[in-house]
Amino acid sequence: MAVVGVLALQGSYNEHISALRRIGVNGVEVRKPEQLPGLDSLIIPGGESTTMAKLANYHNLFPALREFVGAGKPVWGTCAGLIFLANKAVGTKSGGQELIGGLDCTVHRNFFGSQVRSFETELSVPMLAEKEGGSPTCRGVFIRAPAILEVGSDVEILADCPVPAGTPDITITSGEGVKEEVYSKDRVIVAVRQGNILATAFHPELTSDSRWHRFFLDMDKESHVKTFSTLSLSTSS
Ligand code: GLN
Repeated sequence: MAVVGVLALQGSYNEHISALRRIGVNGVEVRKPEQLPGLDSLIIPGGESTTMAKLANYHNLFPALREFVGAGKPVWGTCAGLIFLANKAVGTKSGGQELIGGLDCTVHRNFFGSQVRSFETELSVPMLAEKEGGSPTCRGVFIRAPAILEVGSDVEILADCPVPAGTPDITITSGEGVKEEVYSKDRVIVAVRQGNILATAFHPELTSDSRWHRFFLDMDKESHVKTFSTLSLSTSS
C-alpha cells in the first residue's frame, strides 16, 4: 500500500490525516528529512508559511523536500503548502522567505487580506466531475488565503474564483526599478496542477468532501503507471 506523508511541522496536518483516514488511508506524520525517501506522496498542509519555513530550516528539511518534488513524486500543497511549492511568492513583508519551489507560478501570500477577510465560497471545478461524476462544484474554505497571480505554460488551472468585493488592493512590483501596479483582475487562480504537483489556495481537509484527497491519491497511482511504462519501454528497447 502506498505510503502517504503529511508534513507535520505546523498547521492543519491533523485535519489532513483525519481526511485520509476517512477514505481508509493511514497518513504518516513527517518531521525529519530521513522519512522522505520512504514516502510515495506528500501533503504539505495550510498554516503559516513563514513559521513553517523556519521549522523546515530548523529540521534541515529543505534539501530533502526539493529532492522529493524533483523526483516527480506527487506533492499537494494546501494554502501555506501552495506558497511553499511556488517558484515565487510576493506579499512577504520581510522581503521573502525560503520556498521549496517546483510549481511554476507567482503566488501572493495574503491576497484576500488579513485573517478577518477569510471566507467560504462555492467553486466551479470541472475536473472533479470529470473524475468522479456528480457535482462540478466544491466548497472552498479560504483562511487568510493566498492566490496565484501568474502561471507558466505547463501549469493546468483547475479552479479560479471571483475576487470578493472589498478585498484590499494589492500592488505588484515585477522587479527592481519596475513600477508597482495595482492587481486589477476580477478573478484569481486558486487550484492548479503541474505534473506531480497539486496546489490549492483553500482547505479541502476542513470539509467532509473527500474528492480532492481521492484525486491526489490517484495522482500517485498515475505516477506508478508512468514509472512502470517508462521502465518497460526502456527494458524492451
Ligand atoms: N497566508 C498564510 C501564509 O502566509 C497561509 C494561510 C493558510 O495556510 N491558511 O502562510
